Amino acid sequence: MNASTAPGPVVDADFVRRWLATAAAVVDREADRLTELDSPIGDADHGSNLRRGFTAAHAAVEQEPPQTPGGVLTLVGAQLISTVGGAAGPLYGTLLRRAGKALGDGTAATPEEFRDALRTGVEAVGKLGGAVPGDKTMLDALVPAVEALSFALDAGSGLADGLAAARIAADEGASATVPLQARKGRASYLGARSIGHQDPGATSAALLVAAFADTAAEAVA
Ligand code: ADP
Ligand code: MG
Repeated sequence: MNASTAPGPVVDADFVRRWLATAAAVVDREADRLTELDSPIGDADHGSNLRRGFTAAHAAVEQEPPQTPGGVLTLVGAQLISTVGGAAGPLYGTLLRRAGKALGDGTAATPEEFRDALRTGVEAVGKLGGAVPGDKTMLDALVPAVEALSFALDAGSGLADGLAAARIAADEGASATVPLQARKGRASYLGARSIGHQDPGATSAALLVAAFADTAAEAVA
């Protein structure tokens, strides 16, 4: 049985907690690089913002672990909103809170329910920040990631393969921000001078998607 036909991992509270631990570790490891990316086209705080947020979120979840995947995502989102000062905190916080609420009270979500919840969260980011793909923001990684996951699940893939495809799409989306001119956020103040730099938020979004892919891959291994 290959990964596409295997039952695959279930999205339960434990799955989201393992994602959070992986994400917090990756953000901590990559914080300096994220801050470096935020220096030519921002205010050099993206890595430190996310490190603070994910450290706080991880601590809050481990202190009193919610029993449902929706509960974990909602708590992480609330922590990001309350601990991160920059634009990315409320935006990621809204994404995860809305995704968590969309999952409701169930103890386990199907891959399709999880995909729908992520899509709801990503749409909320668009509404909150007024950005669309192509504006050189985190949405340039997030939107293709959800599309790739969706496409893979509709074609019969399991969660691990779907998230592996999402990871590739998010990475490509982040790289594709380099030639773009920023139309939203701090980088947009630079106008054409924002061209030639990779967007820090699209880069961190790709890391967070990769953490989901790793979590699912470990669960089927
Ligand atoms: P700040 O810009 O307040 O310093 P951060 O440095 O933490 O916040 O985050 C910057 C990232 O936030 C950008 O690289 C971009 O991806 C994302 N971002 C900024 N504004 C928006 C927006 N309106 N919609 C979506 N993403 C945005
Ligand atoms: Mg910044």
